Formats: sequence, C-alpha cells, structure tokens
Amino acid sequence: MTERQRACLAEALEAGYDLLRGGGPAIAAVEAAIRAMEASGAFNAGVGSRAQLDGIRRMDASIMEGRDLQAGAVAGLEGIRHPITAARLVMEKTAHVLLAGPQATRFARYFELEPLASFPGPRAPTKQPRGEVPAMLRLYRAMARRRRVGLETVGAVALDRTGSLAAGASTGGIAVMLPGRVGDTPLIGCGVYADDLAGAVSMTGVGEGIIRLAVAKEIADRLAAGAAPGAAARSVLARLAARLRGEAGALVLARDGRFAIRHTSPRMAAGWWTGRGKPVIKDKFER
Ligand code: ASP
Repeated sequence: MTERQRACLAEALEAGYDLLRGGGPAIAAVEAAIRAMEASGAFNAGVGSRAQLDGIRRMDASIMEGRDLQAGAVAGLEGIRHPITAARLVMEKTAHVLLAGPQATRFARYFELEPLASFPGPRAPTKQPRGEVPAMLRLYRAMARRRRVGLETVGAVALDRTGSLAAGASTGGIAVMLPGRVGDTPLIGCGVYADDLAGAVSMTGVGEGIIRLAVAKEIADRLAAGAAPGAAARSVLARLAARLRGEAGALVLARDGRFAIRHTSPRMAAGWWTGRGKPVIKDKFER
C-alpha cells in the first residue's frame, strides 16, 4: 500500500463516518467513502481507472441498501468521475437496477454535469486499432497469458444508526480486458450485496470467478444462516479458490455490527472506523 493510498483510505473512512455520526443513512456513507477513492486516482476506480485494450476506460459500479433491497448499478461507463453516484442515481431515479454502455454514460452525464467536466481523457491509450475484434483478441490472448490480475477496485460497507446496511463498489476492471468486458462489480449478488436481515458485502478480485459463484450473495446467505462474518467470508473465499482457483477479497459487515475483512490475495488495502480513536488501515488481514 502506498502512502497515497493510506491517506486516501483515511479520508474515505472519515467521509463515510462523518455522515453516519450525523445520523445519515448507510447508503450515503458508502457513496461518500467510494467517491473519495474514485477522486483520488490512487486506486483502480474513477479517475484512476484502468483502460481496456482499445485504450478506453470503461467503469463499473454498484450500490445497494439493505432495508428495502434497493440497488443501482452502471456498467461500461465512460468519462464519468464518480460511477458510484451514477449507480445511486439509477437506484433513486429509475425503477431499473443496471444501466450499461453509452446510454448509461448519457444518463450519468445528464445528472452529473459539474463533476464530469474535469474528468481527464482516457489513460494509457494503446497503439492498437480501435475495437477491431481480431486485433483485440490477438492482443488479449498474448497479454492475458502474462497478466491476469484484478487489483485495486474500491468498495465500502456501512451500518447506520437505524440499523440499516449498505454496500457499494466501483472499478476500472482488471489488468487485461477486451473492450466491453464487464466484471462482477456492477452485478448485484456478485460484487455487492446488502440485506438488513443478513449483512453487507463488497468484493474485489477477478470478476470472472466472483460472478460464477455469486460470491457476495453467497456470503450474505451464510450470514443470514447465522455464520460470523469472518467464517462466512473465509468459507466462500476458500470455495472460490478450490473450484475456480480464484483470488479475492471481501468486506463483510453483519447486521449486529460485527465485521470482517478477508482476502486470499497476498494483500488487500482496507480499513475500518467504529468512531472511536482513529481509523484503522492495513494491507494484510487475518486469512
Ligand atoms: N472485481 C473487479 C473486476 O473484475 C476487479 C477488482 O476487484 O480489482 O472488474
């Protein structure tokens, strides 16, 4: 974890906790924490997002609240500084859960004019021809053999004074992605889940594995069945590793306030703040 990342996590925890302390809802705290990380450029989300193989950054995000199981998500968003806010807007302004592609970008632009204006252009454009499938596939096959990691997606979970939970996540995707690839992050039940009768979960890791085991919902179901957050996360992450050789990390918060941060990746930068003392930030948690 870099110093910049540590400072950003502290800022994100403070932003989220300030809202909770003032009596704000968990969903607002999750959004505020994720916005701080999206704006920092220190993680693979918002302004720090990775580019897909055609040099364009397409971002995914989702957010869910546990009282009424409301959720919103966006996939393949371009040029948007705060995809998490776009996800919340889908939840609050429409009856849909997921908007994707250019229409999702148009939707977000309509609501978010100000913040978008300062979003820089695509990062690290490749020299490859834009979007031509055979060229993209060749490049993908060559690169995917060497690097296939999912890193530095951002996420947050929160419990507010009314006992309501929320979870969210925002990402630029994985290291090597075909144009149009969508990961677990915008898929409710895969990257994110929140249910006041179970718990709140936010995932990071290679989305292709997380999707196939619907990991966030699986962890939430184990919480609902009475498992402790650490045990629920550990058992599902172990299943992901055994069945799909998947590495991942999970933020898990139970409705009674118990929580766990677990990862099968070597490291995961994360933190928590219960309001006492200072935020706790580490990059290695109990396995
Ligand atoms: N889960 C994200 C994805 O597959 C990547 C990550 O967690 O870093 O898009």
